[in-house]
Order: sequence, then C-alpha cells, then structure tokens
Amino acid sequence: MRILVVEDDPDLRRQLSDTLTHAGYAVDLAADGEDGHFLGDTEPYDAVVLDLGLPKMDGVTVLERWREDGRDFPVIILTARDRWSEKVAGFDAGADDYLTKPFVTEELLARVRALLRRSSGHATSALECGDLRVDTKSARATVGGKAIKLTAHEYRVLAYMMHHQGRVVPRTELVEHIYDQDFDRDSNTIEVFIGRLRKKIGSDRISTERGLGYRLINPEAEA
Ligand code: CA
Repeated sequence: MRILVVEDDPDLRRQLSDTLTHAGYAVDLAADGEDGHFLGDTEPYDAVVLDLGLPKMDGVTVLERWREDGRDFPVIILTARDRWSEKVAGFDAGADDYLTKPFVTEELLARVRALLRRSSGHATSALECGDLRVDTKSARATVGGKAIKLTAHEYRVLAYMMHHQGRVVPRTELVEHIYDQDFDRDSNTIEVFIGRLRKKIGSDRISTERGLGYRLINPEAEA
C-alpha cells in the first residue's frame, strides 16, 4: 500500500516517513501544498496524511481540489491543537479522519490501518485468505499459523493483494502501489516478487491471469 505524506515541518515529515516505511508502506513525501496537490492528482495513493497548515497552498484547498477532481483516496488531516474550526473545514472538504498535533505515531498507524481496511471492505487488521493470514498491525504473514519471512517488497505485494483479494490485480497496478515515487520502477521485478512469494506461501495461492495480472487464490474455497 502506498501513502502520500504532505507536511512542511521537516522533522515531522521525516518521522512520519520513517514510521510508515517501517510499518511496511511505500511512502511519498511533499513539503508544500502545491507539490502535495500535484502528487495526489497524478499518483494512485491508497491513503494520504495531509497537514492543513502548508505553504503555497493550504491543506483544505488541496483536499477540496482533489475531491472536486474525483480523487477519492482516504485522507487523514493533521491539525493544530484547539483549532476546532480547522477540523470542521477539513471534514467539509472531504477528510475521512483527523489527528491533533502532537500525536503518538502508534495512533497514526492505527488510523491509517483503519482507513485502508475500511476502503477495501475489511473489518479487522488481520487479513485472511484460507489459512494465509497477514496481520497489517505487525506487518507479518503466516500460513497455517507458521510465520513466513518476507522482504519489505514481498510484504507490500502480498498486503496489497490481500486487500484486493477476489479480483485480478494488474501488474501495472502493483507497480504503482508498492513503490514510492523515487524508486526505479521495473514491472519485471514484480514477477520476481510473485515468484518468491509463491515459494514462500505455496505456488497454488497466486494465479497468473495471462495478460491481465495476478489473483490471490483461497485453496479452501476453490477446492
Ligand atoms: Ca504545517
């Protein structure tokens, strides 16, 4: 899952980037409203963390423009303490949730997880497909209760497919949701990740749909 962080405070931006990356997300950063608006307008994010007090274009305007243009990713706004009118303006502009500064990073992570699973129709942070289980809270996967060791990119591919199980996920879509903006993207490496995942979780659990993409298989449901 890929997340955009728009925050002008360099320390907080770095902290958010580290926290989210460590939790298994691909993260893009913007330091002002214009840059943030552009990224959100052109890249397919799974969620956005948006500060409201931003240089060049304020957060509420950024959000209003995204929503006007039909960008419907979930957005968490960051607001200053005791600024209730900011929160109201943020929700009216299309925010899904908010955090008041200062906040603990665990709370941000919990809110991001909640938004991601709500937008993909899951009720808990544990995603299941047969006996394959991905806990988005700890960023760990198990098969039949046995832990599987995954690299950061393998985890991102698997977590994205678990959020979107039941449909074919095109390779280009995976590329767009597991890499950050600065990464040298190569859609051939997706095939490599899928190959390694098949070795780790079982080769029959991911099907290749020729010319279309990949689909997660629940062996119990399809047996
Ligand atoms: Ca700010």
